[in-house]
Amino acid sequence: MANALYDALFGRHAGSDAPFLHLSDGDALSYGAFLGMAARFAHALTAAGLAPGDRLAAQIEKSPDALALYAACVQAGMIFLPLNTAYTSDELTYFIENSGARLVVCDSAKRDEVGAIADRLGAATLTLDADGTGTLADAAADQPASFDTVPRSEDDLAAFLYTSGTTGRSKGAMLTHANLLSNAQALADIWRFTADDVLLHALPIFHTHGLFVATNVTLVAGGSMIFLPKFDLDAIIDRLPQATAMMGVPTFYTRLLADARFTGDLAAHMRLFVSGSAPLLSETHAAFEARTGHRILERYGMTETNMNTSNPYDGERRAGTVGFPLPEVELKITDPASGETLRQGEIGQIEVRGPNVFKGYWQMPEKTAAELRKDGFFITGDLGRIDEDGYVHIVGRNKDLIISGGYNIYPKEIEVLLDEQPGVLESAVVGVPHADFGETVLGLLVPEGDGPDLERIGAEIEKSLAGFKRPRKLLVIDELPRNTMGKVQKAALRERYADLFA
Ligand code: ATP
Ligand code: MG
Repeated sequence: MANALYDALFGRHAGSDAPFLHLSDGDALSYGAFLGMAARFAHALTAAGLAPGDRLAAQIEKSPDALALYAACVQAGMIFLPLNTAYTSDELTYFIENSGARLVVCDSAKRDEVGAIADRLGAATLTLDADGTGTLADAAADQPASFDTVPRSEDDLAAFLYTSGTTGRSKGAMLTHANLLSNAQALADIWRFTADDVLLHALPIFHTHGLFVATNVTLVAGGSMIFLPKFDLDAIIDRLPQATAMMGVPTFYTRLLADARFTGDLAAHMRLFVSGSAPLLSETHAAFEARTGHRILERYGMTETNMNTSNPYDGERRAGTVGFPLPEVELKITDPASGETLRQGEIGQIEVRGPNVFKGYWQMPEKTAAELRKDGFFITGDLGRIDEDGYVHIVGRNKDLIISGGYNIYPKEIEVLLDEQPGVLESAVVGVPHADFGETVLGLLVPEGDGPDLERIGAEIEKSLAGFKRPRKLLVIDELPRNTMGKVQKAALRERYADLFA
C-alpha cells in the first residue's frame, strides 16, 4: 500500500530545485527544500509520540512552515486539523475537545493560554511561529531531511476541516486521501494548471479554498505560488505582474476594483482569475471584465466536498452562476420535503455525489445521517437550480429561506433587484420574526455615492415583485457583517433585527 496523496502532491517533487514558494522578502523556497522541512517535521511529530491516524490541531499563522506541517501530516499519516487564527480560547476548547487532537501546535505568544486548554484535554502542545521558530521547529532542526512515507489507503483520513460556522456551530468534516487527491487532479486539469503557473496566494490556509483548492492544485501541477501572509492590496498590486493566476473570495475582487492602480495593464499577462466561497455579484463580474478584459471564473464548493462545480475554462463563463458539475461529480436538485429530483429549472436543494464527498461529520452521527444519504448523495444545505444550458445557479442557503405567511421567498431574487438600484453598493435580505406572518422580509442596503433613494426603490420593488416578496422595511447600514472568507453573516443580521416586528 502506497500513499497516493503524498506521492501526487509532494513525493514526485523530491530533489527538485524548481521554486515552490515565492516569499514576501523576495526569496524563493524550492520544492526540494520544502520537502526537507516537511520530512523533518514528520520525524519530530513521530518523536513526539504521534502515530498514524492521530489528530494534529494547528492554530498558526500562514507561513511556509505551516504548509510544511500539512505536508508532514500527509507523509506521516496524521490527520491535519487547521484552525482559524481568529478563534478564541472558548472556540479552541471546542475544537480540541471535539476532535480529540493529541497535539496542538500554536503560536508561541499563545503558548500559555492554549497549553492550559490542551493540558486539560490531554493533548500535548508545541509552538510554531510565522518566522519558522518555536518548540516544534527546535524539535525538527536536527532531524534528517528525508522520511519514510507512511502507507495510507484511499479511505484513510487526511484532514478534519471544520466548516466556517456560517449557519451554526462548526462541524468537523472528515476528508479522506481520495477526497483531496481526486479534487486536486480534477481542478488542475479543468483549469489547465501546469508547472509554468505562478499562483498569487493571499488566502488563509486554514480553509478549504486556500489549503486544498489553491495549494493542492499548484502542487499537483508542479507550479509555484507567490505566498502572501494575507490579502494586502499594496502587495497584490506589487506582485500581480509576476503571477499567471489568482484565486480569491469576491471581496478580493471588489477591493481590487476599488483601487485605481488596478488597471488592465496590470492584469494583462494573467491567465486566470478564480472566485469562490461566497457569491460573486454579476456587477463585480461585469466591472472586472470592463477593467481588465478578463472574465472571472466562478466555482462552487464547501468544506465537506471540496469543489463541486466550475464555470468552463473555455466556453462561456456565465456571471451569477457557478457553472457545471466537475468530472465525476453528480449534482441534482431535489425537493427538500420528499427528496425527489425536481424538473429542470425548478429551485430545490442541491445534492452532490462523487469522489470528493467527505466521510461524514466527526462524532456527529445523527447530523451525518441526516445530510449524507445512504446512496452517497450529500445534501449541501444550499438551494439552487439548473438553467436550460446546464449552468448551476446558487439561490441561497436553505437556512436563509424566508417563509412568510406560508410562502417561500428566496432572498437572492430580492437582493439581485436591490443591488441594481442606484446608490446601492450591495444588499442583504433576511427573514425576521413577525407576529402575523411568522416571518417577514427585511432589506438591508449598503450605500454608495449619494446613497439610495428609498422611495424610488420602493416603487421599483412594487413594479417587479409580488406583494408577499416585498421587503416590509428597507434599512441603510454601513456594511454587511462578514467573516474572514467574505461570507455575509445572515444569522447575525437576523439576530440584530429580531425584535423589529415581533
Ligand atoms: P457552516 O456549514 O458551518 O454553516 P459554511 O457553509 O459557510 O459554514 P464553508 O464550507 O466554508 O462553510 O462554505 C461553504 C458554503 O459557501 C457553501 O455551502 C455555499 O453556501 C457557499 N459558497 C461557496 N462558493 C460559493 C459560490 N461560488 N457562490 C455562492 N455561495 C458559495
Ligand atoms: Mg456549510
